[in-house]
Amino acid sequence: MSMEADIFRLRGISAPRAKTSLKARSRRGAKALAEALLPTSLVAWREPGTRRGQGGAGRVALTFDDGPTELTRDYLAVLERYGVRASFFLVGELCARHPELVLAIQRAGHEIAGHGYTHRRFTNLGPRALVDELERTRALLPGEAGKRRVVRPPHGSVSLTSTVTAASAGYTTVLWSYDSNDWATHRADEVAATFAEHPVDPGEIILFHEGQTWTLDALPRVIERLRQAGHELTTTGDLLGR
Ligand SMILES: [Zn+2]
Repeated sequence: MSMEADIFRLRGISAPRAKTSLKARSRRGAKALAEALLPTSLVAWREPGTRRGQGGAGRVALTFDDGPTELTRDYLAVLERYGVRASFFLVGELCARHPELVLAIQRAGHEIAGHGYTHRRFTNLGPRALVDELERTRALLPGEAGKRRVVRPPHGSVSLTSTVTAASAGYTTVLWSYDSNDWATHRADEVAATFAEHPVDPGEIILFHEGQTWTLDALPRVIERLRQAGHELTTTGDLLGR
């Protein structure tokens, strides 16, 4: 039950498999510029000091957006089986409906942060509404998660205004550097194939989504491949130091 299965999520963000259209190229250009100009305390795409294409092995972060969902416990079971800690970016209104799932994620030792309260694009919200979404969501997160001011904007949609608004409220915006493209398919084989075709570099923040059986099914293969490549799987908090 992905809430955004029919919505193009890549605005402002480049993807490894994105077609090299003029639009995609100019998006990548805008992203490279933003990445160079904005301090990682405001917006982070990957571990500071690492870069795409550098090769080798290092730390990478698995992130899961759009939960909690009815499949959350299944995701947790896979992560537990492999001894992996990950980051979950949760939608506030779903947290309000399923506090027991939020607690289950926390108790399993994963990192939790907000992903908007209503999952509306931050770029469509005025500053007051945006801060309201950030704070209402954070208030629903247990323990340390409720103190951390970290957010992943729905759809990865950011503007200078939305980023500055979030930063003024003390929030670091965490995006991603590697898109599993699990929003673009319903097949586990295709999710796994993304990782076979596009090696993950050290420092990458990898985007997945909750509530998708195909992501769940691909996860063991993805984890095994990343480990075979020598990567250590961790949270965005570990990569970014916040
Ligand atoms: Zn989302």
